[in-house]
Amino acid sequence: MLIVKKFGGTSVANKTRIFNVARRCVAEYKKGNDVIVVLSAMGKSTDELIEMAKEINPKPAKRELDMLMVTGEQISVSLMAMALDSLGVPAISLNAFQVAMHTTSAYGNARLKNIDTERIKNELENRKIVIITGFQGVDAENDFTTLGRGGSDTTAVALAAALHADACEIYTDVDGVYTADPRIVKNARKLDEITYDEMLDLASLGAGVLHNRSVEMAKKYGVQLVVRSSLNENEGTIVKESAKMERMLISGVAVDKDCARIAVIGLLDQPGVAFKLFNHLAHHNINVDVILQSIGRDGTKDISFTVAKDSLDDALAVLESHRETSLKCDKIDVDRDIAKISIVGAGMISNPGVAAKMFEAMYDANINIKMISTSEIRITVIIDQADVDRAAVAVHDKFGLGSPNT
Ligand code: ADP
Ligand code: ASP
Ligand code: MG
Repeated sequence: MLIVKKFGGTSVANKTRIFNVARRCVAEYKKGNDVIVVLSAMGKSTDELIEMAKEINPKPAKRELDMLMVTGEQISVSLMAMALDSLGVPAISLNAFQVAMHTTSAYGNARLKNIDTERIKNELENRKIVIITGFQGVDAENDFTTLGRGGSDTTAVALAAALHADACEIYTDVDGVYTADPRIVKNARKLDEITYDEMLDLASLGAGVLHNRSVEMAKKYGVQLVVRSSLNENEGTIVKESAKMERMLISGVAVDKDCARIAVIGLLDQPGVAFKLFNHLAHHNINVDVILQSIGRDGTKDISFTVAKDSLDDALAVLESHRETSLKCDKIDVDRDIAKISIVGAGMISNPGVAAKMFEAMYDANINIKMISTSEIRITVIIDQADVDRAAVAVHDKFGLGSPNT
């Protein structure tokens, strides 16, 4: 069998943890299996690298930032190879260039295009454990790229798909996927199984336990995932096409603190204005999330929308550059202290009153709602960031998602 095991930053944060992971990999190898290990950078080292860059230049070039960030994963994979060697098991570390993992050139948010599997297969045939840097890619110019924060999950799934692995295991610092972030909602309940679609919604709406593109890719290629802890032997959560979950109205609550709101004020109230605004942003690969347009008054209207914090500067630069020419707005306002809280669940479609229940939870907790966006299977509200943890607990409780015995 071929097993892909991915370990996140906390799982390889120090010497003890590195050996813990190494031992788990050796146990798999000794069963006679082929083992590919995908690693993230140690602990919070990616954050530290970004801080380091910003001390030198507050707006580092994206190419150079990727060049810097890829060093984090290179440290963990080489140390893991040394740890395995010291346990007497042959191993080799490879970075994205050595593999090679081809991506687009969108630095900081590159997409995997294809993976050369030959080198990996050769090393596996030589009975080596192959340890591969997560998060990294190389573009057509042979420049390093990165897949976006949390992107090592996607590296693991892509490798599992490309090599037709028999299992893809994502090891992290919690026991699996919960009904809400267990660090925020103490009585959140671990799910035994979850569907790709529900997991994709949760991940896209801020549940950082899996990179959303890893779920997208797992669904596309039918890679069944197991999310579990690297620190214990508890059974994790299986992510797959259909889950035998008791049909719940809501499968989970997701919180995203990594967003900001831009308000474009005093736009002309005429056709084509929204198109121009969002088209400029789309041309610069800036993803826009919740959008709110005010009712026109005196020939003008306002449009506000949210973006991920790390695209805020780019979005503002784009808007400023078109302000006088095509946008012709009065003012551009920014609110960095917002957060997004969402509930997700396929059961919502056939159940009226779900939105009202969520808003009631906010009202009970005296939390003001700034923006609302809904679809058939999710409701998202934008609130002050200071309120969001409280809101998550309130909403989770309102829908009775917690485990009965905590
Ligand atoms: P890793 O470094 O292993 O990739 P991450 O920090 O990226 O770990 O993801 C694990 C974290 O995701 C957990 O520590 C938890 O706080 C957070 N998280 C957010 N939402 C959920 C959820 N619904 N279920 C489990 N964990 C969640
Ligand atoms: N080290 C990268 C990050 O922190 C990738 C990952 O952990 O998945 O975003
Ligand atoms: Mg992660």
